[in-house]
Amino acid sequence: MSKLDDIKQLYQRYVMPTYAPKLALVRGQGARVWDAEGKTYLDFIAGIAVLNVGHSHPRVVEAIREQAGRLTHVSNLYYTENQGRLARKLSEASLGGKCFFGNSGAEANEGLIKLARLWGHEQGRYEIVCMKNSFHGRTLATAAATGQLKVQKGFEPMPEGFRHAEFNDIASVRAQVNEKTVAVLLEAVQGEGGVLPADPEFMRSVRALCDEKNLLMLCDEVQCGMGRTGHWFGYQAYASAPDAFSVAKALGSGYPIGAIVASPKLSDVFQPGNHASTFGGTPLACAAALATMETIEEENLIERARTVGADFAKRLRKLAKGRDHVLDVRGRGFMLGIVLDRPAQETCARLADNGLLTLATAEKVVRLLPPLNVTDEELDQAIAILDRWL
Ligand SMILES: *Cc1c(COP(=O)(O)O)cnc(C)c1O
Repeated sequence: MSKLDDIKQLYQRYVMPTYAPKLALVRGQGARVWDAEGKTYLDFIAGIAVLNVGHSHPRVVEAIREQAGRLTHVSNLYYTENQGRLARKLSEASLGGKCFFGNSGAEANEGLIKLARLWGHEQGRYEIVCMKNSFHGRTLATAAATGQLKVQKGFEPMPEGFRHAEFNDIASVRAQVNEKTVAVLLEAVQGEGGVLPADPEFMRSVRALCDEKNLLMLCDEVQCGMGRTGHWFGYQAYASAPDAFSVAKALGSGYPIGAIVASPKLSDVFQPGNHASTFGGTPLACAAALATMETIEEENLIERARTVGADFAKRLRKLAKGRDHVLDVRGRGFMLGIVLDRPAQETCARLADNGLLTLATAEKVVRLLPPLNVTDEELDQAIAILDRWL
């Protein structure tokens, strides 16, 4: 029996069937992965926007190794320097306030929701206006915030306090605001919703509406953050900044870590005892995140995502021209979607068979999320595979 079959059998017997994997991957380096049969692929999923510095970046590997041998975890009953240094780095790259650390995107968003509710509590305000087709996670509250019924179906009753408006439609957002509203939550580029950037005018209007009604503007940067769109955070492509945002996915290059990053206005809303997380911001997780951020800076990966990503999108658009079944190429930086007139699943399977891993989303979109340090040669190879098999 093959190695793949062995692993499959273990899953069939012991792992809950929430996913439907096809390949077993055993090794990764940069933008490449190898399966259990020794076949190699270009990884343009990158752990779903987690590996922005690529697989097993030597600097991240060394930081994890070194820290693991010194101090892994002590709980948040004690100061650890890495957490303070990472909070400073996130703050200086964004809103200039304080951070709270957890383990995942859903946990970061859950914290963001709690932060907004605590802030509005005295005035009895707790409702959050979220966007249709958004994605915020799989815990009960973040699933309720998510604007997709398929995420909620079967798990009712959903926690209350979430309303949904049309993305990129300020009149629709305004219509959902009432005396109980405390915040508006959105992604600068909707990821699971089909790689859909917010219109500049929409972002500006959301900020203005929040200022007018004394609401918090919250961004979910879990997928579009960490340099992915050619900015540290997706909102930075716009003139308006949120009051706080969540970050996770690429923050630790695969070592689980997420965070709430707040502006000074929200930095001291949580007080001792309000919120906590056992594994939040451990020395080990923060070492991985610090090494990730230093790598992004030193290798100029934000600039690379912006310029090389735009150039790659241009090549994709050119390639799309001769193909009637390709309706659009959209996105920002290295967060790109090829919109088809048909289900994307089959196309993604064909691309994978031919050495390029991509991800179907919103049914008809082929999503491309290469590591930001993908080489020019690897991009040429991806274009060649797409040219033949898209
Ligand atoms: C992936 C994702 C989440 C959830 O993150 P987890 O780490 O899976 O909990 C939340 N928001 C967005 C935009 C995401 O892409």
